Amino acid sequence: MSKPVVAIVGRPNVGKSTIFNRVVGERVSIVEDIPGVTRDRIYSSADWLTHEFNIIDTGGIDLRDEPFLEQIRQQAEIAMDEADVIIFLVNGRDGVTAQDEQVAKILYRTKKPVILAVNKIDNPDMRHLIYDFYTLGMGEPFPISGSHGLGLGDLLDEVAKKFPQDDEEEYPDDVIKFSLIGRPNVGKSSLVNAFLGEERVIVSDVAGTTRDAIDTQYEYDGQPYVIIDTAGMRKKGKVYETTEKYSVLRALRAIERSDVVLVVLNAEEGIQEQDKKIAGYAHEAGKAVIIVVNKWDAVEKDEKTMNVMTRKIREHFLFLDYAPIMFVSAVSGKRVHNILDIVNRVNDNHSRRIQSSILNEVLEDAVAMNPAPTDKGRRLRVYYATQVAIQPPTFVVFVNEPELMHFSYERFLQNRIRESFDFEGTPLRLITRART
Ligand code: GDP
Ligand code: GDP
Repeated sequence: MSKPVVAIVGRPNVGKSTIFNRVVGERVSIVEDIPGVTRDRIYSSADWLTHEFNIIDTGGIDLRDEPFLEQIRQQAEIAMDEADVIIFLVNGRDGVTAQDEQVAKILYRTKKPVILAVNKIDNPDMRHLIYDFYTLGMGEPFPISGSHGLGLGDLLDEVAKKFPQDDEEEYPDDVIKFSLIGRPNVGKSSLVNAFLGEERVIVSDVAGTTRDAIDTQYEYDGQPYVIIDTAGMRKKGKVYETTEKYSVLRALRAIERSDVVLVVLNAEEGIQEQDKKIAGYAHEAGKAVIIVVNKWDAVEKDEKTMNVMTRKIREHFLFLDYAPIMFVSAVSGKRVHNILDIVNRVNDNHSRRIQSSILNEVLEDAVAMNPAPTDKGRRLRVYYATQVAIQPPTFVVFVNEPELMHFSYERFLQNRIRESFDFEGTPLRLITRART
């Protein structure tokens, strides 16, 4: 089940990014660890009580030269296309403005739940300012204050009530869901056509049930697959679909729904910042990852070229050291058929479970060979470990004092686990806990 998506819509300066940041909180993100982020982060996971969801700040989707009204219109459309619940934000201190009415008019068209939030109600004496907003015809307005953090609990309770109720998995468990992500023109659509064309066993193009994404179901060698979000690659239509922020957003949503993510690079153009950002997100989301270098036919090469490229990729994608790298050509079809074999393999690894007894033998050996260094006279003691989850494989390591587990020692233990079991293509998570 993919997480519900909430979008915040409203004219500029009503407080969208303030609310977004409040709701998201202090999340550590390797992807966004880039200076000058302020408005860069427009999509994030978040939670409220037991609910996990993703949230979009549509105000951060820069639509470049579009006139002002057109920008708000498109931001509202993105919200209607992408979200399960829409928060329509207005500024209580300004009263209803003509622009608020414009936004409302667009949002009337959607069947999705819209919740009206009146921001900048910084103290209870200002509550009366919300009454004006009933005229927008969006139901009861919720008074909030983004800068003071007031009313957000009630607002999020209401948002969570409107989340889609279907708890069913979209597809049976044996289906492998994967997506191809990468910048425009790296050859994602060509690659998809290359697998599909080769085998001609497309089951059907079905519209996603709860989401607007169009998935391609496909079967090869008895294994069912779903290729997520290829429609977004194949037919492009709306103006905003060409904007960079929107394409990143689309990629993030496809990643979220995938088991395996194919990060597609263009061999002719090399590696760009955008590639790293998106790949970083796949890693953070705990997905299995394969790096696919496409257009290998177009590169002039000798016997060293592949090694040089491999080294470059490893340098740029340090955090993806576990991801296999494939060199393919959608045009000549070279090695395209191997992609699904690798997808199967990393998908198995992503779901691999290790028996505790065997895992502990490996860790005992590791610790005996290389005990943790002492830290101010204290030494980390590793008692035992157990695997608590798959997709990605997640291990809890019980120790005397978790603060003594340093990054480098954790890395060492991870490496020992990787040397002993096949976890190629999948991130691993190690959680250190004090034995009680
Ligand atoms: P956006 O353009 O809709 O994303 O708006 P911003 O989040 O950038 O906020 C616009 C301005 O309103 C900023 O100066 C914020 O500090 C201010 N602001 C946001 N929320 C509140 C609030 O609850 N109360 C007050 N008084 N100011 C707020
Ligand atoms: P997408 O935007 O990532 O879906 O990229 P497309 O699949 O639309 O491909 C963009 C362009 O690259 C098209 O002109 C393709 O013909 C070309 N292309 C795709 N794969 C290859 C390849 O393996 N080799 C070469 N030489 N060109 C390719």
